[in-house]
Amino acid sequence: MEENNNNLQNNGNCDNNNLNSDCVFCKIIRGETPCFKIYENEHVLAFLDIRPVSQGHTIIIPKKHIKNYFDIEGELFSKINNSLKIVKNKLQIFNKKNICQFIIGFDIDHAHIHLVPANDMIELNNFKNQDIPMVELENTYKKIMEDEI
Ligand SMILES: [Zn+2]
Repeated sequence: MEENNNNLQNNGNCDNNNLNSDCVFCKIIRGETPCFKIYENEHVLAFLDIRPVSQGHTIIIPKKHIKNYFDIEGELFSKINNSLKIVKNKLQIFNKKNICQFIIGFDIDHAHIHLVPANDMIELNNFKNQDIPMVELENTYKKIMEDEI
C-alpha cells in the first residue's frame, strides 16, 4: 500500500492487551497495517476487504483477538450486531438488493463478518480472491464516506 495515501487510516486508539502479534487483523487494529476504515467504535472495527467480491465489500471485526465467531458472547455480540446494522446502512449507497452477510472462518483466525452488497447469488459466486488496484478501493471508500469526509 502507498504510504502517502491520506485515506488509509491507522487505529492508534485501542486496548492492546487482547491482541495477537501474528494476526493480520490485530495488526490492522494496532495500526501496523493500514486500512480503509468504514466504521469504528470502542469494540468494533469495519474496513474494506482488499479482495472484494463486489464494490463495498466490508469486513467487521471485534477489537479483541477472538478466534472463532461462535466464541463471541453477551454484550460484545450485541455490540457487533449493532455495528453491522450501521455499516449495512452505509453500504446501501451501492443500491444493491441485499447486503449479504458471511461468516466463513477458513482464512484468518480472528472472528470476522463479511458484508457484501449484491443483487443475486451469481454476484456472490464471484469470490475471485484477487487484489484490486488501490485506487479502486479508495474510490469505493470515498463513495461510502462522502457524507462524512
Ligand atoms: Zn487477531
